[in-house]
Amino acid sequence: MAHAEAAAKFNENEAKVNWHDKALWFVRQKRDKQAHKIQGWEQLRDYASALKANVLSNLDNYLVQFEENAKKNGVTVHWAANAEEHNKIIHSILQKHNAKKIVKSKSMLTEECHLNPFLEANDIEVIDTDLGERIVQLAKEPPSHIVLPAIHKTKEEVDELFQEHLGTKPSGGNPEYLTREARKHLRNKFLQADAAITGVNFAVADTGGFVVCTNEGNADMGAHLAKVHIACMGMEKLIPQEKHLGIFLRLLARSATGQPITTYSSYFNKPEEGKEMHIIIVDNGRTEQLSREDFRRSLHCIRCGACMNTCPIYRRSGGHSYDATIPGPIGSILSPGKDLTKHSSLPFASTLCGSCSDVCPVKINIHEQLYKWRQIIVKDVPQPTVKKNIMKAAGSILAKPKTYDFVGKSTRFMLKHTPKSLINSKINTWGHARDLPEVKGDNFEEWYKKRQKNE
Ligand code: SF4
Repeated sequence: MAHAEAAAKFNENEAKVNWHDKALWFVRQKRDKQAHKIQGWEQLRDYASALKANVLSNLDNYLVQFEENAKKNGVTVHWAANAEEHNKIIHSILQKHNAKKIVKSKSMLTEECHLNPFLEANDIEVIDTDLGERIVQLAKEPPSHIVLPAIHKTKEEVDELFQEHLGTKPSGGNPEYLTREARKHLRNKFLQADAAITGVNFAVADTGGFVVCTNEGNADMGAHLAKVHIACMGMEKLIPQEKHLGIFLRLLARSATGQPITTYSSYFNKPEEGKEMHIIIVDNGRTEQLSREDFRRSLHCIRCGACMNTCPIYRRSGGHSYDATIPGPIGSILSPGKDLTKHSSLPFASTLCGSCSDVCPVKINIHEQLYKWRQIIVKDVPQPTVKKNIMKAAGSILAKPKTYDFVGKSTRFMLKHTPKSLINSKINTWGHARDLPEVKGDNFEEWYKKRQKNE
């Protein structure tokens, strides 16, 4: 299903769309307040962008340096070229320990690799321990946002879900009660777990350590209780030195949720005595993206979600309408690189207003990259005939001033005189959610001429 069709489904529930829109805009505003509170915000963004550019240009060296240091710390390092290898490596580690119960903290990489269904097919229980992730896991849905995975669910919906799966009492969507029940349920899972899987927010090349950020402490709880800790990281997660964490941690929390710091920013360096720690470094299409000159900067992404919170399309179409692991503006750049035909509608799911680029903490030129994909897609992917014809007609009108003038005047006339009932009729799908603009006064040319005369 193309993005527009999936978005239309989400738009069927107008109240939910408005609520979703407001909730995300609230997070965007919190981000703005925090960003304005610290001096040198723009400078931090510049540093972060330059550091990421440096990492990508020297990725081979940094990866080897990271591996050497991690091994020195007693960590086992694995390399996975793709999702299949990533899943197999995890399976073999779990098999070695006869691990049947796994707790997992939020990791978009494991979503990307479809780890959960793979483990479940191998008779391994995997429990997502981030509250939002657990909600979508119980609902058998993918996350709709990379930081707020269950943002599309109302508290009443969560209430029903918990009644069905956790045996809770009806609470009318009481967040305190629901959170307490989730905590009880998850605590047992933590205590029973044979192994813990986490993501990686930042991997530090000069120490071999890595940082995992959560607001619930669930990554720490899992990693400290289980005998085996497996951390999965995309190969672009590296930063050169420990001292650079100060820059990225400041940017990440403020951009993601408008907090000055994430509640738990845990720095893992080596396994505890008698335990094992593994790191899996995953490519899965990243090298290919790195080779695309116009799109390599998309690998700067630190997965803060700010571009989603600000995007007028994302806020009103919901994360699931993107049908991709990473939705929103950055996902619309990453996904076509994986499957151009399947994701060809995504770069068009943007107004190109540039708000995403403005808030991005690592200064990715998101809207410019979306525009670049559009240019590729119209050449390489067959476009609907109607769209092609409309574009052709628009091109010829815009190329001839006289025709443009004539069409402009006729359109203004029609805008004034077409009955509303025709625009918002059942047969005109365009008019289902739109009104035509009101025509007031002169057009620009007329206004300009009059003004010249009066001067
Ligand atoms: S592209 Fe930028 S704003 Fe969007 S998630 Fe990545 S780092 Fe955040």
